[in-house]
Amino acid sequence: MRIIPRIGLGVWQIPDGEIVRNAVRWALEAGYRHIDTAMIYRNEKGVGEGIKAGNVPREEMFVTTKLWISDQGYDSALKAIRASLERLQLDYVDLYLVHWPFADEEKTQEKRADTWRGMEEIQRLGLARLIGVSNYTETHLEEMRSYAKVMPTVNQVEMHPFLYQKALAEYCATNGIQIEAYSPLAHGEKLNDKTVSKIAKKYGKSNAQILTRWALEHGFVVLPKSTHKERIEENFDVLDSKLETEDMKTLDNLNENFRTCWDPY
Ligand code: NDP
Repeated sequence: MRIIPRIGLGVWQIPDGEIVRNAVRWALEAGYRHIDTAMIYRNEKGVGEGIKAGNVPREEMFVTTKLWISDQGYDSALKAIRASLERLQLDYVDLYLVHWPFADEEKTQEKRADTWRGMEEIQRLGLARLIGVSNYTETHLEEMRSYAKVMPTVNQVEMHPFLYQKALAEYCATNGIQIEAYSPLAHGEKLNDKTVSKIAKKYGKSNAQILTRWALEHGFVVLPKSTHKERIEENFDVLDSKLETEDMKTLDNLNENFRTCWDPY
């Protein structure tokens, strides 16, 4: 069974070329073995170069990319993964995700089913070790039962204390779907929150580390993004700081349905 490293470097909005190459290299030096990119981030080429430069054996790496909305459909999905692999200079990705549940045109349910058939074929061909979805609600996941031969391993969604999607997390846990928490630092928009600062002070950690730790304690895979070496290292340095139940509760209670990304509901 393929194990998903619990902390991955997110690379959305990191420009292709030297900046993303460096971010990936620094992450690998810091101990990350998981990189989360997407076709639409337009940096797969630099990510691939960074991975190559990092010299980590391929089997130790966990690389995720995603199928964009405009590539939904059976044939387009197969074409899209091959193009992503070419840019990444890899023979396979560890995880391939349907980025969003909707397609460009109407009849999205039919399109989702068609796309998923393509994803299953991608896995069968060995182009992706695992397949999953992103931004799927409970309704989208339930709908999959009618068309999926293989249910998704992962649902990657926005998740942080300010958007604690408890019902979705419980649904996924019950159904054996791993949640990956994207924008775990609320896209940088809540890093000065007073409550988080207070907890951070108690543990001698940074606010970003407390938010990362919160996701881990809930059993989510967590994908913090940074372009700065010291922050990349800091976000990974969270494995020793268990949060007390009471502090977890305080953080859970910060939920205010604050979304930094689109709302798939
Ligand atoms: P995050 O929640 O990870 O926050 C990133 C922001 O926080 C940046 O501004 C970054 O600045 C700053 N930051 C990072 N670390 C620190 C630190 N230690 N101290 C202070 N500031 C810090 O944002 P994202 O929205 O990028 O989400 C993370 C990843 O999740 C994405 O990169 C992507 O891989 C994934 N994602 C997936 C989506 C999907 O639809 N599936 C949607 C959105 C994200 P700087 O870079 O300057 O250091």
